Amino acid sequence: MENKEKQPLVQVKNLCKYFKVGRHADLKAVDGVTFDIYKGETVSLVGESGCGKSTTGRCMIRLYEPTSGQVIYNGKDIAKLTKAEQKEFCQQVQMIFQNPYASLNPRMTVKEIVGEALKQHGMPAKEVDQKVEQLLETVGLNKDHMSRFSHEFSGGQRQRIGIARALSVDPEFIICDEPISALDVSIQAQVINMLKELQEKRGLTYLFIAHDLSVVKYISDRVIVMYLGTMVETAETEELYSNPQHPYTKALLSAIPEADPDKAKASKRIPIKGEIPSPINPKNCCRFAERCEYATEKCFQEMPELHEIAPGHKVACHLT
Ligand code: SF4
Repeated sequence: MENKEKQPLVQVKNLCKYFKVGRHADLKAVDGVTFDIYKGETVSLVGESGCGKSTTGRCMIRLYEPTSGQVIYNGKDIAKLTKAEQKEFCQQVQMIFQNPYASLNPRMTVKEIVGEALKQHGMPAKEVDQKVEQLLETVGLNKDHMSRFSHEFSGGQRQRIGIARALSVDPEFIICDEPISALDVSIQAQVINMLKELQEKRGLTYLFIAHDLSVVKYISDRVIVMYLGTMVETAETEELYSNPQHPYTKALLSAIPEADPDKAKASKRIPIKGEIPSPINPKNCCRFAERCEYATEKCFQEMPELHEIAPGHKVACHLT
């Protein structure tokens, strides 16, 4: 809570990213998203594929130019950085990508992949070697791996290489774009634990992007649930899991497998009917209306505003 008195490290303000898909058609991938991230926090963005979570992350690292809205990093609008500030931003903000199979260049050795950014920053070759060795140890690999190619590694090991690459320039903020969704369940926990340890040791701040709520509970301080380009609910993790309010969040939570057989018997899965609708020219009403079992006429006519129902807990639903 003391965090909240400080200035956020990242401020996303009314961010929109539309893609033109025809003369009169806009694919509204992100449509008015606003949130803050404080230093040392992990904020998770969760929703089905196509909800705009990865596009939000990509706008925050300038891989996409937003259609409108702002991303403020350390008090500066990232669209207005000078050349020197851009260089600093690129060092301070890194991304770990979803697919460890596609995000590593198959023609480069591990040493080249992890050391690439260090070389670009002018580090002498000998120091690069030492730093790469240290980084590999940090992520649970070793110096014997340096001369190998990425295809010689398992999925979990490849993601460790991706994490070592992100850490190489000593960033303070890392966007983790579904870093574990391509990995076996047994490996997922190892990678999550490693990210948590790294956060504690290095004081990192994370935006963690995931498609379901099961994996983010143990790593997040706060969770944002997105649906079709908009935020539908956000709260501190404990509050969101114990007191979900939006019908979509409730359905996502009900889909989490329960390990305890007694609890599993008692819990009821809330099905979400139909498919996620097209984000092309969406209607100005509740975007979840077509799939919501509580939808009323108002839901098909008016877009619900995201409003605070308890300190730090916001919901976009006409019923709250
Ligand atoms: Fe369901 Fe209406 Fe709430 Fe949308 S606003 S989630 S349709 S009840």
